[in-house]
Amino acid sequence: LFVDQPLNEGGSLRIEGNQAHYLLNVMRLTEGAAVKLFDDISGEYLGRVGARGKRDLMIEIEGLTRPREAVPDFWLCAAPIKKARFDFLAEKACELGVARFVPVLTDRAVVDKVKDDRLRGTMIEAAEQCERTALPEIAPLTRLDALLKAWPEGRHLFFADERLHDGSGGSLAAKLAAHLGPAGVLIGPEGGFTDAENAAIRAHPAAVPVSLGPRILRAETAAITATAVWMAANGD
Ligand code: SAM
Repeated sequence: LFVDQPLNEGGSLRIEGNQAHYLLNVMRLTEGAAVKLFDDISGEYLGRVGARGKRDLMIEIEGLTRPREAVPDFWLCAAPIKKARFDFLAEKACELGVARFVPVLTDRAVVDKVKDDRLRGTMIEAAEQCERTALPEIAPLTRLDALLKAWPEGRHLFFADERLHDGSGGSLAAKLAAHLGPAGVLIGPEGGFTDAENAAIRAHPAAVPVSLGPRILRAETAAITATAVWMAANGD
């Protein structure tokens, strides 16, 4: 269970709202039951259910079970797509272990608004499900030109370029192996990048254009594939 406050061994906390409803009425936890909690600061703790009310309960924090995990230094930068698909993408990004999720506004965007709270809720649920002890940072919706301008030195920018699906891009595995270390991947919207955007990305000194294979993948499939392959290449 994610708790949005610092946890301390020997401390206690009151759980209210949806989380209390989940623990009391869905999980039906009784006094003394064990609960795992994480705070995205120091890590995961073992807690025990204490006094229970109708709509709230106390949890006594016993001890740290796992320190906050070391998060692979990988950013997923993706143009927003339709809500259900973007939620799916955010969920998988969290499960796969990304450090930072950046929604990117591009010329062919069909979606130009992102609800950060909704994305965060999706990622919290994903983190709880896969027992992550850290949450990805969610960046505000960022224009492509601003993203390129602010891209940090020393971070590879893998550009998933669907135009390379004809096989002209070389092997993804070889490109990843030749560019290990901090990185991000840039995934376009359903309509792909415009010629001008493609040229601007390629002109960036950190850009490494990559093909994700001979088929044109949906944006969310492309994002998940690139992230999983980067994690595998970097041993994360
Ligand atoms: N422009 C295409 C179209 O609308 O027919 C497809 C865009 S694709 C659905 C969305 C994004 O996924 C692309 O901008 C690219 O970043 C990524 N992508 C999909 N297939 C890819 C491939 N085979 N290689 C590299 N990137 C790919």
